[in-house]
Amino acid sequence: MVELCLLGTGGTLPLADRALSSLYVRVNGRAMLIDCGEGTQVGIRRLGWGFRCLEGLVLTHFHGDHCTGLAGLLLSLEKAGKDEPFDIYGPAGLKRVVEGLCVIVPKLSFAVRLHEYPPEGATFEMIGLRIRAFPVDHGIPCYGYRLELERKGAFDPERAKALKVPMSEWKRLQAGESVRVGLRKVHSEDVMGPERKGISFVFSTDTRPCETLRKYTPGVDLAILEGMYADEEKYPLAVKNHHMMFREAAELARDGAASQLVMTHFSTSLEEPEKGLAAATDIFPDTRCGQDGMIIRLNYPKAQEPAAITIFQKEDW
Ligand SMILES: [Zn+2]
Ligand SMILES: [Zn+2]
Repeated sequence: MVELCLLGTGGTLPLADRALSSLYVRVNGRAMLIDCGEGTQVGIRRLGWGFRCLEGLVLTHFHGDHCTGLAGLLLSLEKAGKDEPFDIYGPAGLKRVVEGLCVIVPKLSFAVRLHEYPPEGATFEMIGLRIRAFPVDHGIPCYGYRLELERKGAFDPERAKALKVPMSEWKRLQAGESVRVGLRKVHSEDVMGPERKGISFVFSTDTRPCETLRKYTPGVDLAILEGMYADEEKYPLAVKNHHMMFREAAELARDGAASQLVMTHFSTSLEEPEKGLAAATDIFPDTRCGQDGMIIRLNYPKAQEPAAITIFQKEDW
């Protein structure tokens, strides 16, 4: 299962009831963040999923609404007793930005490892997810993310018994290792079925619709995309400032055959994004407006179906 929580769904500036961009991602007790807008640590406290389990952060870009929460986050990690390294991935210039934001952060009890992307982006792993960072169109270097949780094939106990593998060795076969049974070797693939469909989602904010988004969105279970403006009157502004309309996010989800779309990064001029939702649902019905404290659970699908998605609002947010 992959669990997500939208800690903040605001763009540009925070509102009294809407924090800036950040997504908490949790898989089997391991966690990471995408973006770290100002006050992200407050959202993490509200959520209650913890600081110490956070292994890293990936940044979309270096506009302040996506990264100014970094110093506070690192201080909270320190207070929580973190001692394992913390990885931060982001566009070229990451080192300079982190050093600048963290002038006031004293020496930490854990290592911070920085990873700058080459222009074409990168593929790496964090918390068991395969992550593809791809460049998008925001006027400055900015990256969208496709995240995938792979799923191994099913273990066949009857086959293992037939091959006379003792039960004490089953775990090793399930982990991909080979074991010796008498004079023979039994390999993992002898007892594991073909790989099954896993879970995938895309997170991309602060961009115009672009080729890379069209390339990496197809077939995802969930697309979390920017919906900066709902009203078509704002379209020239969206183009000028390299942002995306509700309509355009819905078109990307529809064309990529995503299962569901959640929009985030709302303009401060959009006090009630829900009122503009029809601009998206007319094009892609399975769309909703994200909200601070919204929790999304993606469970492994049956056979080749999409992942089973549960969405609810955390109480007392
Ligand atoms: Zn932004
Ligand atoms: Zn931006």
